[in-house]
Amino acid sequence: MHPKDFVLETYRQRYGKEPTYLAIAPGRVNLLGEHVDYNDGFVLPAAIDRATYVAFSGAEPGSDHSTILAADFGEVTSFTESSIETKIDANGAPLCEWARYPAGVAWALKGAGLAIQPMQAVFASDIPRGAGLSSSSSVEMAFAVAWSALGGWSIPPMELALLAQRAENKYVGVNCGIMDQFASACGVADRLLLLDCRSLEWQTLPIPENIAIVIADTSVRRKLTSSEYNARRQACEEAVTILKKDLPGIRALRDVSVADFNRFCHKLPKMVEKRARHVVEEVERSLRAIQLLQQGEIQAFGQIMNECHVSLRDLYEVSIPELNAMVEIAQSLPGCLGARLTGAGFGGCTVNLVEKPKVQAFAAELAARFSIKTNLKPEIYICRVSDGAQVIPTSLH
Ligand code: ADP
Ligand code: MG
Repeated sequence: MHPKDFVLETYRQRYGKEPTYLAIAPGRVNLLGEHVDYNDGFVLPAAIDRATYVAFSGAEPGSDHSTILAADFGEVTSFTESSIETKIDANGAPLCEWARYPAGVAWALKGAGLAIQPMQAVFASDIPRGAGLSSSSSVEMAFAVAWSALGGWSIPPMELALLAQRAENKYVGVNCGIMDQFASACGVADRLLLLDCRSLEWQTLPIPENIAIVIADTSVRRKLTSSEYNARRQACEEAVTILKKDLPGIRALRDVSVADFNRFCHKLPKMVEKRARHVVEEVERSLRAIQLLQQGEIQAFGQIMNECHVSLRDLYEVSIPELNAMVEIAQSLPGCLGARLTGAGFGGCTVNLVEKPKVQAFAAELAARFSIKTNLKPEIYICRVSDGAQVIPTSLH
């Protein structure tokens, strides 16, 4: 069942009535600018047509409990504005892992002085978890817009995204950058998003008419990777500290040109140099890619995606054999302009740019060849680029 029908149906069964609202917040796929959001770089994501859906209404009059059912897990949590301060539920037990996402959003909104009305909610998603499509920020953004609708207040989507990021950083404890929440909040149908992760200025860019974005899920899920992620963030910070001695003007790796990096990189420990080189070159690649896209040079844009994969594989070292296999097969197929792993890596998905007339054959062939090579069952899907998070009164369905 589609998650939208699933949450509506589950809500009706549980509460014996229609929910007042339905919130929808998409996942995202990043085309270029990987592992640069926390280095103040540029990213090029798009919101996708897989999303988290929340069917919800205000809590019963007099109740100060928010009751939230995670329909995909068949688990329920209940918390109050005061219980979430100490990460416990209304019964005094620690909030389970998934409950920290909606509770964290409530906590961050409240911290910003925004009113939180207790809600009864059922949510579900068709974004695979831990697959590089950012299921977590879609859950956060879905609840962020839900509480905005219930509270009757509204703030710009980027500000809502920043509060959701704060929830993930400070409440859930995952040190993510702003890209994921931004894309889920600010997505525009049929357009790529270009975000400057330093100034937070953003704009949209066209996707050529004849091009499809294809997501290929290896079905491998990343595990225990927060230590790897943190180690890479640390390497980037260390590189800035060392390079600052010769380049006093820099604040982040985004400020280092490839030429300057090549002059001073011998001062970095070998591993730090590799990590930092990926970031410095990726920032340069993304600037080139933006120009190409604006000129409609999609072939050359695809080439840059291919270069990005090599860099993530060999310098940033966040790929795995299954992602490499998916990329190599894709690049060998007719109509494929570019392919690379997307998201943090260590499992999950690749993103592919494919000529529309060849996309069905591409998807079928990619799945077949990947299965033969790895014995895994991949999921290939042709993605529609979607709008950002929103709330729809259910009377409009
Ligand atoms: P991703 O890369 O998909 O964002 P994360 O590890 O950051 O992966 O977030 C995944 C976590 O988000 C899950 O472990 C769960 O706690 C929460 N989550 C995501 N989707 C759902 C869902 N449909 N129902 C409940 N929790 C979810
Ligand atoms: Mg996440």
